[in-house]
Amino acid sequence: MLEIVPLPAFRDNYIWTLRDGAKAAVVDPGEAAPVKAYLAKEKLTLVAILATHHHPDHVGGIAELIAAHNVPVFGPRGEPIPELTHPVGQGDRANIEELGASFDVLDIPGHTRAHVAYYGLGSLFCGDTLFACGCGRVFEGTPQQMLESLSKLAALPDATKVYCGHEYTLANIQFARNVDPGNQALEAREKSVRKLRDAGQPSLPSTLGEERATNPFLRCAEPAIVESANKYLGARVADPIRVFAAIREWKNKS
Ligand SMILES: [Zn+2]
Repeated sequence: MLEIVPLPAFRDNYIWTLRDGAKAAVVDPGEAAPVKAYLAKEKLTLVAILATHHHPDHVGGIAELIAAHNVPVFGPRGEPIPELTHPVGQGDRANIEELGASFDVLDIPGHTRAHVAYYGLGSLFCGDTLFACGCGRVFEGTPQQMLESLSKLAALPDATKVYCGHEYTLANIQFARNVDPGNQALEAREKSVRKLRDAGQPSLPSTLGEERATNPFLRCAEPAIVESANKYLGARVADPIRVFAAIREWKNKS
């Protein structure tokens, strides 16, 4: 039975570890030390590495890990990650035979040019594109691309577990409450996430059902979000791309 375990890295990154029996794979190892320590403590053999995008806090540990373990490294074909052995993109599958696990690769550009997500076994590894109650900054793509990528993820089933790259949930919820003040699901989410964080627990994974109900970046066509974007802009816009761009800019400044 596959288990998914978060390894905290840096200040607020998670390296997601997939383990079954004595084998493990890691997603986005920004640093090697926490992975090496966990593998040693749990007596696990590393069998694969998956990368969602090229930012150093997601791939910085790969070189050191493959120096010790000769394993396949999956990652986006269109990004500068020199350690990739399996460059992938939309329509490809990342097969990890040793874990009996296989993931569909989805192209989700916007945060970076060729960011990918891995989807399988009811789980989604989405790096810095979709966050719990938020989304990544648009660094290398356009707001339109980012919104399309988020919409692609939002179309997955409600029960899909969302494993994103950072513990940003509480701050994201606080921003979301300004944008979507009447949303009771959001208020309830703040209470439950605060409880988890106060107990030192990760707020992740969330589910896509929760995200669709509370994440303002997935709700750009909702009247309350359009209204807030208009207030922020001091202008009337209704196009979801412009609404998305407005709340993304607002979040950058908040
Ligand atoms: Zn990033």
